[in-house]
Amino acid sequence: MCWIPEYEVKGIPYDTPILGYKVNTANTMRLWRSEACESFDFNKFNVGDYYGAVDEKIVSENLTKVLYPNDEHLQGKELRLQQQYFFVSCSLQDMIRLHLAQSDSLDNFHEKFAAQLNDTHPAIAVAELMRLLLDEHNFDWERAWKITQNTLGYTNHTLLPEALEKWSVGLFGYLLPRHLELIYEINRRFLNQVRIIYPNNHQKLANLSLIDDSGEKYVRMAHLACVGSHEINGVAALHSKLLKETVLKDFYELFPEKFSNKTNGVTPRRWMVLSNPRLSKLITEKIGDRWINHLEELKQLEPLADNPEFRQQWQDTKLAIKQELADYTRQKTGIEVNPNSLFDVQVKRIHEYKRQHLNVLHIVTLYNRLKQNPRLDITPRTFFFGGKAAPGYYMAKLIIKLITSVGDIVNNDPDIGDRLKVVFLPDYNVTFGQRVYPAAELSEQISTAGKEASGTGNMKFSLNGALTIGTLDGANVEIREEVGAENFFLFGLTTAEVEAFKAEGYNPWDYYHANAELKAVIDLIASGFFSCGNANLFKPIVDNLVYEDPYLLLADYQLYIECQDRVGKAYQDPDNWTRMSILNVARMGKFSSDRSIQEYCEDIWDAKAVPIELEEYSQANAVLQVKN
Ligand SMILES: *Cc1c(COP(=O)(O)O)cnc(C)c1O
Repeated sequence: MCWIPEYEVKGIPYDTPILGYKVNTANTMRLWRSEACESFDFNKFNVGDYYGAVDEKIVSENLTKVLYPNDEHLQGKELRLQQQYFFVSCSLQDMIRLHLAQSDSLDNFHEKFAAQLNDTHPAIAVAELMRLLLDEHNFDWERAWKITQNTLGYTNHTLLPEALEKWSVGLFGYLLPRHLELIYEINRRFLNQVRIIYPNNHQKLANLSLIDDSGEKYVRMAHLACVGSHEINGVAALHSKLLKETVLKDFYELFPEKFSNKTNGVTPRRWMVLSNPRLSKLITEKIGDRWINHLEELKQLEPLADNPEFRQQWQDTKLAIKQELADYTRQKTGIEVNPNSLFDVQVKRIHEYKRQHLNVLHIVTLYNRLKQNPRLDITPRTFFFGGKAAPGYYMAKLIIKLITSVGDIVNNDPDIGDRLKVVFLPDYNVTFGQRVYPAAELSEQISTAGKEASGTGNMKFSLNGALTIGTLDGANVEIREEVGAENFFLFGLTTAEVEAFKAEGYNPWDYYHANAELKAVIDLIASGFFSCGNANLFKPIVDNLVYEDPYLLLADYQLYIECQDRVGKAYQDPDNWTRMSILNVARMGKFSSDRSIQEYCEDIWDAKAVPIELEEYSQANAVLQVKN
């Protein structure tokens, strides 16, 4: 049986060399653009259908025009599935072409190529690789399945149920009928195996099936990825543990040997050398430059944390970087910030689970305290926010409005002066990230425990000398283990406590009524004080918090405020703060993407290092050969 598609598009490759750091090698990053096979339909033109004549060109090229920007949520749009299929098919067909240029058989394809499913977005690769092997290369099912499983690995990136991709069988079958047929056959064979292991267990079959048929039928892409891959991993220790206990529990029981953890990392070349030249220079002056590609070498900074002269240099460096962000802030927003204030930063996608609005509750708490007692001695702080909301995410957009509205009042209140400033920096992206992470002193990593898979912003901040205020979530857990509990501001419910709260019937209303300071903050927002008297504007946020509070802001509020009070106090002792900052940087070696990628190479891809011949080495070797 062979698939004859209704329409075809051409994939145009675009190659970008990805250079190694100070080596003579480069990898190729190959991206794809779609193009029409025929750019002009003369038949349609000839019968007077002028729009129709260019229709195919427009439809084909729209396929790769926009990237779906949604974060941790899905829309189930037809164009999105077309896009996923297009990119997957281009890459797999290209890999097969490259393999067949070297070898006359695809039998050892999986020994030469590895494909990592980065979340479920490319999970259609399971069915597409099967289709290519079966229909285009005449493999039998067993051999095709072995190659497919051995080629693919699956990395899960979220536990949030609303983000787990599923496609209605109707849409799927309309767009990719052959793939749906293959998925049904994969499922039939898979469930036959399950039946042998769990006889007469209908619940197990329903839980594991690639098809959700509890109501309207859906293809579960995470299940397809699990069945079609030889390795499955999460992106931080806690996340990988929760995966095995929750969303992929039944798969873990079936094949525990497939599961592992690969804690994320960030590249020190971008997130230190490029973005923070001042701190990089100071570090290199003291310990040399080997840390740049052997991040564990930062350990050598540890003894310097007790050296007063070095601490002074560290502080001076930080102040200079903060001054740069202050200048940028004035230029972009007109807001004048005090470079000597504590730079308290939360930059990341705007999402309720990340709890930017918990940060706002703290700001309004400090504002109320200062209004009640204008002479109160508090640590001056500048709160920086940055981040995008997904286009259709109403609450996320309203949270941005809340931040800027609170800022408009706080920043212009003469009672406050420059003791509190609130800045929302627009258009947050990687380029802006490079300015902000180095200038931060406090990193806000305050997601509800169990919701953030790993986070990588947390690593960028700590690597640049910010201290973290955070929950036991994602990679925060491992960062705290590495830098030491005494150098990390921990607060909040644990994952287990969050689960217990939900199970026992959490009532945020009780927290609102029991805590006078919290009640005053929420009442002030609800009154319209920050919205020109409009009490309706923030009502959706207020109602959500006091009646539902799915992310337990009110349950964590008091713990967060007390922890922030400890942060404020700690900042009053610059020597000790700087000591903690140096120790954070010194102990971040684990969080290099070099370590992370090495683990994927060894445990999943079976990719061996290629020896690199540098000029220096070959000259040295030449000398050796002459001597021999
Ligand atoms: C690192 C980074 C992120 C991820 O931030 P988290 O705090 O881990 O959510 C998002 N956006 C940009 C631009 C980044 O640089």
